[in-house]
Amino acid sequence: MKLEFLGGVREVGRSALLVNDSLLLDYGLLSGNPPQFPVATPDPDAVVVSHGHLDHVGVVPALLSGRDRPPIHWTPPTMELALTLARDTLKLHGPANRRHGRGSGGQGGGYRCPFTENDVKRVTEVSHTHGYRESFVAAGHEVTFFDAGHIPGSAHVLVDDGDTRLLYTADFHTQDQRVVAASTDRPDADVVVCESTYSDVDHDPRRAVEERFVESVRQTLWEGGTVVVPAFAIGRTQEMLLVCEAYDIPCYVDGMGKRVTEMLRGHPDFVRDADALDRAAAHARFVTSHGQRTRIAEQNAAIVTTSGMLSGGPAMTYIPAIRANPTNKVTLTGYQVAGTPGRRLLDTGRAEFDGRVMPVSARVESYDFSAHADAGGLRSFLDTYADQRVFVVHGDRCEAFATELRADGVDATAPELGAAVEV
Ligand SMILES: [Zn+2]
Repeated sequence: MKLEFLGGVREVGRSALLVNDSLLLDYGLLSGNPPQFPVATPDPDAVVVSHGHLDHVGVVPALLSGRDRPPIHWTPPTMELALTLARDTLKLHGPANRRHGRGSGGQGGGYRCPFTENDVKRVTEVSHTHGYRESFVAAGHEVTFFDAGHIPGSAHVLVDDGDTRLLYTADFHTQDQRVVAASTDRPDADVVVCESTYSDVDHDPRRAVEERFVESVRQTLWEGGTVVVPAFAIGRTQEMLLVCEAYDIPCYVDGMGKRVTEMLRGHPDFVRDADALDRAAAHARFVTSHGQRTRIAEQNAAIVTTSGMLSGGPAMTYIPAIRANPTNKVTLTGYQVAGTPGRRLLDTGRAEFDGRVMPVSARVESYDFSAHADAGGLRSFLDTYADQRVFVVHGDRCEAFATELRADGVDATAPELGAAVEV
């Protein structure tokens, strides 16, 4: 089996792995200004997508811009998330916006969308959806999805070419979240390509993180304040709505997470507790018009909203509205990448809104609601594959983690960007 690492190695973003020159696993975007794409433009016979996050699926429609129309295989939620993200990318960076010289709320102003509306329409024509543990054939390979416990629809991808069985873990979590249960399947494999986002981090138990978050939010509400809860649209927004419902915290939801929540309610088999998600959606008040935002920012409630790293979205309205009052609070719910406004706010207490840097007197806190396995989770996952060849990808310290695994006797390496390896 031949593996070509086209992106998402020694970095987080633009995941793309080409198998035997014919089967492409993921084709994502590295967010930034400008965003970056995988290092080669493959011409695959089939595409398999692990899950619906931008860094794994963001550039997939561009594969349909030529004459070839490779089939795309994914779970039903991944397909819907991919379409949602593609339409959003077109809206922010497509031709209409370029003509008017508009950026995307501060990110990637000059960036040109790598696909067209027609390419996005073609996605549904070539789409094949599959559930977990249902094998199918793609570019002559037998492929099976296993629940990866990362976001709804996320999958470990097992690829068998007749000689070699490759397990591409993609993003996964080994602790239960409210929205999805932990990854538990450990299919037999000869070679493992493993993510390593949090290879040197130990998450606190989720229940403890939740309880700290809830106590802090309740305190602010009791003092008469408002809490803005920036959250990624996919997975995290639903997780925070589930937490709010479970602890009876009054909340609003705004931004792309609204649409994603409604969509996921249509896929009850891919969430941990569909009834709980229904209850959470009924408990939250959906913000239906922009004009309501200033009034809502004065409510004694939590506001769950995109973007998770404050690089756009309705959070850009809510935070300026609540920032001056120290009774109010901003509770970040995910990792803040260096260089993002969220990271800047956390480090300096200031952030840029609409091109203006403003001080934020409201308290700013950060909670680790990660959807990735931590160091212990990665180790326990890889224990099953101690005698197999392991490639460490998708992290900021892939080489260091591979070295640590080698010290424990695992045949682990961190491939370089663009590397082709025969296994
Ligand atoms: Zn992901």
